[in-house]
This record gives sequence, structure tokens and C-alpha cells, in this order.
Amino acid sequence: MLQLESVTGGYGETTVLRDVSLTVPEGSVVALLGANGAGKTTIMRVASGELRPRAGWVVMDDRDISSTPPFRRWKLGVCHIPEGRAVFPGLTVRENLVTFAKGRADEALARATEAFPVLGQRMAQRAGTLSGGEQQMLALARAYVTEPRVVLLDEVSMGLAPKIVDDIFAFIALLARTGASLLLVEQYVARALELADHVYVLSRGRITFSGPPAELDEENVLAGYLGGVSA
Ligand code: ATP
Repeated sequence: MLQLESVTGGYGETTVLRDVSLTVPEGSVVALLGANGAGKTTIMRVASGELRPRAGWVVMDDRDISSTPPFRRWKLGVCHIPEGRAVFPGLTVRENLVTFAKGRADEALARATEAFPVLGQRMAQRAGTLSGGEQQMLALARAYVTEPRVVLLDEVSMGLAPKIVDDIFAFIALLARTGASLLLVEQYVARALELADHVYVLSRGRITFSGPPAELDEENVLAGYLGGVSA
């Protein structure tokens, strides 16, 4: 469904991604592993349209979307949850959700509350005054109410308490069950691999492993992490 084909790109003179090809098939969960600075976030930015590849293509449903801007990709069903708390802090929880809802507002609010009941009690509260975990739940719920086809999840459990991390992984599993395709960058490697149908390891901007999680041995993981720890 969503593919990066032979993508090379980076920032200014710096090349970060080198000939990266990666596929997120319909209805699948794809995990992307790699050391700090390997280029995982850069792949997410290329997929979302925030960053144009210098060479290569981004393809969705066999259509070249390499120069389609982020907003148009969002309309096509590509939803990017970037690192950090991607909410509008000055808007209420309700306003944050309604702004992104593709269908009816009341249905979107019901969907968000079903995913994260705590948001139901916070609808009138400004997003900037929510706890870090609640803000991340709101960012994820906003993605859910857009009824996305592909969700790019970049370290969404980063810096959160263990109980919230459990809720977030339960949500990721729910999102996958709704039929959305997921591209997952996670610090909790073992948990990401439990959900994944396919895994890519990125090392210094190149894909060094592509296959099912069962075929990923410690050597592949360590190669990806350049001697770092794997879980
Ligand atoms: P992490 O796991 O630490 O988040 P990552 O694998 O997501 O790392 P990227 O954030 O994609 O890695 O960064 C890859 C490289 O690109 C790094 O060397 C980083 O310093 C550089 N980089 C990232 N964003 C920019 C930018 N806006 N301008 C210049 N260089 C950048």
C-alpha cells in the first residue's frame, strides 16, 4: 500500500537515507528498528511528506505521491504521529479531536473515548494542561478519529509511565485490528516485534535487514544498533 522506493534524502548537504526501499502492505504492522541517528524519523518524514526525497519515490496504492504535500497525504489516509506531544495546547480536548475528525463530530468523540476513556472526562480541558501521558493519548486518539489507512507511529511510548505504555500498546493493537496499516518506530523493541508482521533494521541510513520478526536474530539487531542493546 505505502512504499518507499530507492529513497535517498536528508537535510541540506547531509545525506541521511541511502537507497532505502520499504513497504507497508495493506493491513500489516511493520516495525522499523535502528540505533539513535540511523534515520528512522527521517523515514517517517519522507513517508508523511514533510521531507521530499532527493532521489527515489514514495508510492501509495501504485500512485507516485513523492511530491504530494502532507495535508494531501493526510486526506489519502496517511497519518503521522511524530515524536513528542502532537496536540494543539491552546485548544480543548474536544476541539483537538473535532478538528481532525473526518466523519461526524459526535461519532469521532465517541470513538476517541472508546479508545481512551480518560479523554471522555477531559473534553473541556485545554490540551496543554493534560499530563504527558494524556497528551499522547489525545495525539493517538486524534489519529484514530481520522480513520487512517496508514499510521506512522514515531516513538509514541517515549518517556511515559509503564501503565500508560501498556495502554498505548493496547491502543496500537486495536488500531491494527481496525485494519489500518502501521509503521512502528519503538524503543520497546520486544513489544513492537510482538505486534509486527515484518521488520526492517536500519543502520546508518541503509536497510540492513528485512524479514519476519522470527528471522531476526540477535546479530541483525545488534548490527542495527551498532553494538547497542536490543531491548
Ligand atoms: P533517534 O532514534 O535518535 O530518534 P533516528 O533514527 O530517528 O534517531 P533521525 O532523527 O532520522 O534518526 O536523524 C538521522 C540523522 O539526521 C541524525 O544524524 C540527525 O542529526 C540528522 N537530522 C535530523 N533532523 C535534522 C534536521 N532537521 N537538520 C539536519 N540534520 C538532521
